[in-house]
Amino acid sequence: MQLKLPQGAIVLCIGPSNSGKSTLLEKLIAEQLLLRSEVVSSDTYRELVSDIQYIDFSTVSPEDQDVLYEDYQQLSMEAFHVLHEVVASRAKLNKVTFVDATHLRQAERAKYMEMAKKHHVPLIALVFDIPKEDIFKRDEQRLEPRGKKRLEQQIRTFQNELRHIKKEPFAKLYIWRGEDLTIARQASPHL
Ligand code: ATP
Repeated sequence: MQLKLPQGAIVLCIGPSNSGKSTLLEKLIAEQLLLRSEVVSSDTYRELVSDIQYIDFSTVSPEDQDVLYEDYQQLSMEAFHVLHEVVASRAKLNKVTFVDATHLRQAERAKYMEMAKKHHVPLIALVFDIPKEDIFKRDEQRLEPRGKKRLEQQIRTFQNELRHIKKEPFAKLYIWRGEDLTIARQASPHL
């Protein structure tokens, strides 16, 4: 698969945990197809605002899970606030930015629609459509497992949202199923 990139763009990664978003972006950086600064990740911003890299929900009691989840929601909100500012500034400067987060909810994607329109850059969707068996299998090997319950919920949301995502007004929508991916940069600001 070849992903065409104009001079400036917001590329929204869309896919549940373990669909391989960060892994693919790291590979593209290693291959020098992307600059490290062209990738902004929700995990990085969560750590930047809170020092917390990972919360293991599976080791706490169900009551404590609710409290922990509230804390997690609050720090996520702060993280996304900063992340949005960075993506907006980069769009204003006509830069390419890949946003590495799940973006499973329509409201999250709509925010970038508005941002892309405001700063005159195309919004491109990169959808990670990976079999759910692989998503669960990867969690067993992951140092920081996301947990079965959370993954089931994300996969359900993803499957329900997919038909809406396909109809949303992205400048271009790519569906990635694990094949080789290259990037072709366009000299022009248009796709
Ligand atoms: P999250 O949204 O939770 O950050 P993600 O979609 O960014 O998840 P990664 O962090 O890239 O997913 O990968 C999650 C786990 O799955 C990692 O342990 C990674 O090594 C593994 N993984 C990713 N891609 C593949 C693949 N193609 N084959 C096997 N394992 C993979």
